[in-house]
Amino acid sequence: MIQIVNDGVYRVALFCDACNNEITNAELALYTWDEEDQEERRKKGDRFTPHFYHKGPCAESTVFNNQLPLWDELSRFPVYLVANLKVDWKRARESAREMASW
Ligand SMILES: [Zn+2]
Repeated sequence: MIQIVNDGVYRVALFCDACNNEITNAELALYTWDEEDQEERRKKGDRFTPHFYHKGPCAESTVFNNQLPLWDELSRFPVYLVANLKVDWKRARESAREMASW
């Protein structure tokens, strides 16, 4: 799940939907959505809530054992979001830096 954490400054964070620990490295995580992998049941305009998992036991026990095979690398998630929101990356990053600790 995605949440806002107050660490003295507010920050956006992702938490694993299996173990509830924070996901701190996108390369070690994935996301999925509750859609069965059956093309004939897909309808244009369908919406799904994304779920986030650490790779390994968290994803294997929760995602793949429950037959929710549609997933993608977490590192691609923000790329799609930035593109779909038409974010001016340079301007947004400069603006965000004023409120961030990095
Ligand atoms: Zn986990």
